[in-house]
Amino acid sequence: MNLALISHPDCLLHTNGSVVGMPHPENAGRITAIQDQLIAQGLDPWLIHIDAPEATREQLLLVHDQDYVDDVFQSVPEQGLVHFDQDVVLGPNNLKAALHAAGSGIAAVDWVMPHAERRAFCAIRPPGHHAGRRKAAGFCLFNNATIAAYYALEQYGLTRVAIIDFDVHHGDGTENIVADDARILFCSSFQHPYYPYSGFPASADNCLPVPLARGTLGPAWRTAVEEAWFARLEAFAPELIVISAGFDSHMQDDMGGLGLVEADYAWLTKALVRVARINAGGRIISLLEGGYEYHALARSVAAHLVELQV
Ligand SMILES: [Zn+2]
Repeated sequence: MNLALISHPDCLLHTNGSVVGMPHPENAGRITAIQDQLIAQGLDPWLIHIDAPEATREQLLLVHDQDYVDDVFQSVPEQGLVHFDQDVVLGPNNLKAALHAAGSGIAAVDWVMPHAERRAFCAIRPPGHHAGRRKAAGFCLFNNATIAAYYALEQYGLTRVAIIDFDVHHGDGTENIVADDARILFCSSFQHPYYPYSGFPASADNCLPVPLARGTLGPAWRTAVEEAWFARLEAFAPELIVISAGFDSHMQDDMGGLGLVEADYAWLTKALVRVARINAGGRIISLLEGGYEYHALARSVAAHLVELQV
């Protein structure tokens, strides 16, 4: 058993409130849908279950400014919800959930580093890739994936980490944090132009964007990704691959307008396992970002995990 599933019950307590009487799309049902699918598909018994610890303040400061972290901690209300940003709310349990979400990446790095061929998936919320050094945005408070990447660089002395992001939205927070850091190669595909209206052209040489027109389907996405990423990725020879796994690029997810399906996620995951085996001892950690249509999300995560488990 080489694949860890990392989560924490507190991630279910995170709430974004409701939108005109409807549940907010980023809700706890996303995590339970994934858990249900893994059980129904018989995958669950093959996973090492790890409880995500809370990230420490020091770990948050690997990528976020002190003032920003202080601001988050001081803004949590004792009851009710407050808007910390236009799309980010804070409630009594939201900071706890965000700390466990950030801590999941730390636990994932600690799981994969001691042995080759270990991989991990973090079923967590809130997501992280829109959170920048000093900015919350797009349901994201702390940038979970980059915290994990920088933790691996600092704690394990790595020198090259690749971050792969296939969420339908550009990971603007991630790019804000890693731009011009030669230790990171940031490969991202996203609908363009679309929220957050950034990412193309790239802000730095270590960022490899694949902007996709609304309506792009899997075959065209595979070709574009292959051309933009694979040669650079193999030359970069990452010692660890971190995936910002957003499944809102799925055909059935109307949060975006792309047309990926389970087989596309499986295809990329398989290719990344191949790249990871060249220099990273097969080590990959993957953290949930977007994905709002329960069924498509759950099936896509399962397809992703089947390939990570190989
Ligand atoms: Zn997204």
